[in-house]
Amino acid sequence: MNDIYQFDPRLKERFAAAEERCGEAFRRMEDICAYNEAKVLRAFTDCRVSETHFAGSTGYGYGDRGREALDQVFACAFGAEDALARHNFVSGTHALTVALFGVLRAGDRMVSLTGAPYDTMEEVIGIRGQGCGSLRDFGVTYSQVELLPDGTPDLEGIRQAVPGARVAYIQRSRGYALRPSLTVADIARLAEAVRSVNPEAVILVDNCYGEFVERQEPVQAGADLIVGSLIKNPGGGIARTGGYIAGKRALVEQCAYRLTCVGMGKEVGCTLGESRSLFQGFFFAPSVVAGAVKTSIFALSLFDLLGYPVTPAFDALRTDLIAAIQLGSPEGLVAFCQGIQKGSPVDSFVLPEPWDMPGYEDPVVMAAGAFTLGSSIELSADGPLRPPYAVYLQGGLTYNTGRIGIMLAAQSMLDQGVLRL
Ligand SMILES: *Cc1c(COP(=O)(O)O)cnc(C)c1O
Repeated sequence: MNDIYQFDPRLKERFAAAEERCGEAFRRMEDICAYNEAKVLRAFTDCRVSETHFAGSTGYGYGDRGREALDQVFACAFGAEDALARHNFVSGTHALTVALFGVLRAGDRMVSLTGAPYDTMEEVIGIRGQGCGSLRDFGVTYSQVELLPDGTPDLEGIRQAVPGARVAYIQRSRGYALRPSLTVADIARLAEAVRSVNPEAVILVDNCYGEFVERQEPVQAGADLIVGSLIKNPGGGIARTGGYIAGKRALVEQCAYRLTCVGMGKEVGCTLGESRSLFQGFFFAPSVVAGAVKTSIFALSLFDLLGYPVTPAFDALRTDLIAAIQLGSPEGLVAFCQGIQKGSPVDSFVLPEPWDMPGYEDPVVMAAGAFTLGSSIELSADGPLRPPYAVYLQGGLTYNTGRIGIMLAAQSMLDQGVLRL
């Protein structure tokens, strides 16, 4: 460690001890990173990416070769038949919405295999809010198989619920819940259970926060479609907006019809000046994801040593970026987020305070000082002010800067008298 940032000497000992025991987990992540970087490089060379692909198009964007090559690169790296990687997706929720509306028709049923979906999807499905324009409004019915008490999927319940369903929906990452995230191997088991009772179902995975954390993606383990956001993992911290859908060719085509128009699909959509940053971000993504996962491993190790319940364990096999730390008090949660903010490259001088965010029952506090607004591949932390005062931590563009953010969070808690050593 260096003397550029000052920390309490007792904390410095804990930092060293916390990092010391991360060696094996770090090496595991570095091996995965090396594999995924090779996979991405190979996708670029196999798809013959060239400087001419970075020239943007305007208007309809007919014949934009960069757009077509980017789709191929995503498909190739993810082991999918085809992909739709576009700056036109305004968020992960939008990409998921396009995928669901692309595949589902009036009278169809969608079943969530992993309990309640991510918050923002509830309005899209029509189980919360006004419902106008939701899937339900268009005649799509919905049911969900609750997770077992330990937070894992209920395979027996899934076999009962899936017959007759058009979409079997799986959320890989825990999102903002304390349940375990699903590994790609877990998803393979779910896919097998679905196929055994309903071979026709479209298995659609919300892959947010999962890309490049393992060697394989869910389409290589039986899923038909994966969907994610480019201001998370696959944007590598460089994409300024966007999302992707990848999987079976015919299904990607249906999604493209929904994103643009029936009959036009993937053939239109100008790229303006965004192509270069989408290619470049995807190229960096495996290494940026590895930095974020290492930041997460260090945070879990440190706060476990400091006596806080954490999930997952620092040495667990990882499948996403999210770490949850139960800080036990509102003061602890706020002090933690204020420390993270101090370590952000952008807006470090801002002091996060809890606020009543629309759509949430309890006040929420968040730390985010990112180059791209709302980006959560960059170091960020947030949590609702309710017991157990869990903070959800994600991102970190590089390990060394992410680690400083975590150390400043601990120092901020010590300074505010909520951490006792
Ligand atoms: C981030 C995320 C989404 C989509 O959220 P956006 O903020 O709309 O990009 C969906 N599901 C999960 C699990 C997520 O983490």
